[in-house]
Amino acid sequence: MTENTRRLKASDEPLVSSYDCAMLDLDGVVYVGADVIEGVPRLLDEAGKREMALAFVTNNASRTPQQVAEHLQRLGIAADASDVVTSAQAAARATADRLSPGSRVLVIGGEGLVEALRDRHLEPVVWEARTSHLEPAGDIPTAVVQGFHPSVGWEQLAYGAHVVSGGALWVAANLDLTIPTARGIAPGNGTLVDAIAAAAGRRPDVVAGKPFRPLFDETVDRTGSRRPLVVGDRLDTDIEGAVRCGAHSLLVMTGVTDLRTAALAVGDRRPDYVSRTLSGLLASHPVPEHAGDRAALGDWLAEVDDGELVVPRRGSDEDEGLRVVISVAWQWLDDHPDRRLGLDGVRRIWPDA
Ligand SMILES: [Mg+2]
Repeated sequence: MTENTRRLKASDEPLVSSYDCAMLDLDGVVYVGADVIEGVPRLLDEAGKREMALAFVTNNASRTPQQVAEHLQRLGIAADASDVVTSAQAAARATADRLSPGSRVLVIGGEGLVEALRDRHLEPVVWEARTSHLEPAGDIPTAVVQGFHPSVGWEQLAYGAHVVSGGALWVAANLDLTIPTARGIAPGNGTLVDAIAAAAGRRPDVVAGKPFRPLFDETVDRTGSRRPLVVGDRLDTDIEGAVRCGAHSLLVMTGVTDLRTAALAVGDRRPDYVSRTLSGLLASHPVPEHAGDRAALGDWLAEVDDGELVVPRRGSDEDEGLRVVISVAWQWLDDHPDRRLGLDGVRRIWPDA
């Protein structure tokens, strides 16, 4: 399959019947900020009753699985720590695979990383700003593991740069450049990794989190899943990560991706399935029929007219509308790789598209 020919897949059966495990992203899929997304606890309960394993898979390395599980429980979701897989755990495992037990590992991050390293029989070396202003006591650590935590400051980054300059193994929990905060975007782990990389003149040896494989591999190992479905809201982490590890993916529109972004996606950032909400997990997924630059599904008809995507006929099922627009857009983009697709006609139907 060449780069741009990925298409929506058809599933006659509900996805919950076709896949044995849902690897669920959290922010934008289960909750947004502090608030649970409406209907999600009920949908997950239903998926669990229908024998789909649920794994809550997060790039966030700052919290422990227990802290994440407690958060989910407060939102009304029956999850315990063993259902949570964090990039800190995947980073610790990748580190343990390369070092002998008891090796000292500098932590540039928080409690999630410290606990995950201990679970893998490694010795976390934690910066205590109050007790040392030069470097931690003892020998120079054998490795550096880096994941976001609000407490990370210049002294840790400086010592981290010193250690990785000396050739130590360097494992990053993820390369997310930004994190959302109440005030807007803020530097994420990827930005802090870049700070050390610029100073040290090298990049991390391993990245654990999405879109890289270790976090998915850790989840597959943990669940024993043979046919996992990645469920996420971001094209460049969840969806691209699924493609890289050969899993199928469901994009939900409850997070950061709007219809416009999904319709213009190319290559490995195209999901296999798409639905407005997590209810797509319990639904079958018919695909549109194409004829030239037109596609139809249910009562919906979408077409590209003179480079502009328009929707001459609407139906009542919004998920079908979503799929018909995305499907016709992808087809047209692949047929006209040098042209720009106009989506203003779609925005008139879905103002927030
Ligand atoms: Mg997300």
